[in-house]
Amino acid sequence: MAYKTHPSTPPSRTYVHLPCGTRATIADGPESGLDENDVDLQPHSLLSNPLQRFSGRTACSHCNQFRPVQEFAWVDTNETIAAFRERWAERAPFWARMVYTPAGTLVIWGGSTAVGLLLGLLSSQVISSWWVIGLLAFVGMVVGFFVGMIILEPILALVFRLAYQVEDPRQLI
Ligand SMILES: [Zn+2]
Repeated sequence: MAYKTHPSTPPSRTYVHLPCGTRATIADGPESGLDENDVDLQPHSLLSNPLQRFSGRTACSHCNQFRPVQEFAWVDTNETIAAFRERWAERAPFWARMVYTPAGTLVIWGGSTAVGLLLGLLSSQVISSWWVIGLLAFVGMVVGFFVGMIILEPILALVFRLAYQVEDPRQLI
């Protein structure tokens, strides 16, 4: 399949559960995460992001259960969601895929924590008391930990934009 993208983010996308033929339209936001039978659906942006890890399953209201994405196809392209995700994942640079792994998260989050610890230690250079050094190092580490938590999502969003040259995963077709 060709690598096409939407010029702007579409509000929703419909998939069909191939074994039973039941369709569901997915979107993002609290009011659109359920289908007509109140079955929980995966968010549109999650299923559309080939770099983002998830359970690999989404819901069918007729079968009333979560099934592997191999069993679901996008109605507009007839491509299974599994094939769609694999195809686009292959398209991303190796480094971008790495950032999205648990190890990538650890490097970003752990790195931020380590920088905080280091800054805490450096700021305590003029102080000779060990407990002050320890306190500043601890405070630096805690701040670094929370900064890491805050910057993780924006970094992943930036990596996505660099990998695919579009703003939003929902633009991938
Ligand atoms: Zn079904």
